[in-house]
Amino acid sequence: MLSSADTPERIREMYLSDYLAEIGTPEIGGNGFYFNNHEVNSFVRDIERWSLANIEYLPDLFLRQSEETDALKMRVQLPNIDYSGCPREDSHKDIRVDEYGRVVCSHCNHYIVPTEQILGRSEEYDKLSAKKRVVYKIDESPSEFSLSTEVYKSLISKASMAEKSMISERCDAIISDLGARLPLEYIVRKVNTSGNKIKATFRSKENGVSDYITLEYGAGKEIPPSIAGHNLSGKQEILSFPYGPKHIAKLVKLWYMQEPEGSAPAYSQGTPYGST
Ligand SMILES: [Zn+2]
Repeated sequence: MLSSADTPERIREMYLSDYLAEIGTPEIGGNGFYFNNHEVNSFVRDIERWSLANIEYLPDLFLRQSEETDALKMRVQLPNIDYSGCPREDSHKDIRVDEYGRVVCSHCNHYIVPTEQILGRSEEYDKLSAKKRVVYKIDESPSEFSLSTEVYKSLISKASMAEKSMISERCDAIISDLGARLPLEYIVRKVNTSGNKIKATFRSKENGVSDYITLEYGAGKEIPPSIAGHNLSGKQEILSFPYGPKHIAKLVKLWYMQEPEGSAPAYSQGTPYGST
């Protein structure tokens, strides 16, 4: 992550491949490269800050021409998907084109649920639609009615529905993004196939001497408060890529070159999604 010393002046005229090499770490015994204390949004923010500091030199400052070898070009591609139908459910047949030009599933399920059965509502990141989705916690499977949108609208307006709630779930799974403008956040999430990891540090102190154990956990995994006589003392997120800084810089360049003047979107839904 950019430190306070990383002023626009310091990173101006610095190749992105060099900058990434400086702030990241090569994987031991592998080809991967990772960034400590980073998740997808903070990585995208760093790229935005670097490109703002270098806006007048783009697109020539992503990596040196000599670094763009044929092997590197072959390896680094935008992570497009192109399914023949909805990847969530074969029976979904309705489609639409979203604001980025992606073909997405427009199937919508409508449920009628007694209000008291709704225990909670949360927003979770959904990989298939690449955005946050509202998830309801219901104490019993809701009975599904195949309602048309017209019937749904007429039902919801009736007073008799006061003790019942209507829940609409839009699928929005991405079917094809060929030819679409892919947001950088979406690209990083797709390439970051290992998923965000959490590096947790446990510490014990005996006779005034600290002893540390460092372990990695998958995102979403619960980290125990203590392990082998050591207590949890800190944790940080890790963002990993399957290849090195030149490749990552090329990937960012491919994102940038989707649109003239670098106007390709940074984030899906316009703003960063808080919890990666
Ligand atoms: Zn669908």
